Amino acid sequence: MQTKIMIVEDETDINRLLARILEAEGYGTIQAFSGTEALLLLEREEPNLILLDLMLPGLTGEELLTHIREKKRLSAPILVLSAKSALNDKVALLKSGADDYITKPFEPEEVAARVQAALRRTGSLPRRQLPFSYKNIMLYPESRKVIVNGLELSLTSHEYELLLLFLQSPEKVFSRESLYEQVWKNGYYGENNTVNVHVSNLRRKMKEADASEEYIQTVYGIGFKLK
Ligand code: CA
Repeated sequence: MQTKIMIVEDETDINRLLARILEAEGYGTIQAFSGTEALLLLEREEPNLILLDLMLPGLTGEELLTHIREKKRLSAPILVLSAKSALNDKVALLKSGADDYITKPFEPEEVAARVQAALRRTGSLPRRQLPFSYKNIMLYPESRKVIVNGLELSLTSHEYELLLLFLQSPEKVFSRESLYEQVWKNGYYGENNTVNVHVSNLRRKMKEADASEEYIQTVYGIGFKLK
């Protein structure tokens, strides 16, 4: 199961930035924009870690922290986010159940490192991602390395993402629209030829490494699937 991190932060830009940083590290995110929303979400979600801004409208971060620790008995590590000047009582915070704090403004690397350290301390780091294998293809998600027939392919990130999608669901027929949405992540597919071009480049590179196999099949009128 994916490690899930709840972000409690009322400033939309910062909340989104944190989500992007964490998702790039492979974590799932649950975004709450107020303390009340966080409490509601905690009714049904069990995050592995919570990033908690202190300056929240309504229910404050401190109140939420106490509530989570005392009422909900949730043991997930909680990292407090705060402007440096507002962090005048670190000891009290740590006593009331925070595990660590990150001062704003923060660097993405710092957030990622502190989250990872807190998860490591509680033994809830994500499991190793296993390689995918299909015919003569091996794909290693942790290093983003693709080996075909013993040869390492040099893929662009879009080609890699396409191949990863295919390998994750070897039986699935993907429409061009859905490939486009999942790989390019910018909405409407329209009339463009992007997916075709990238799939054909991917095919060519695989063919160069392994002339004996066809790996991607065109499904007429729909899109592509693994062959
Ligand atoms: Ca705030």
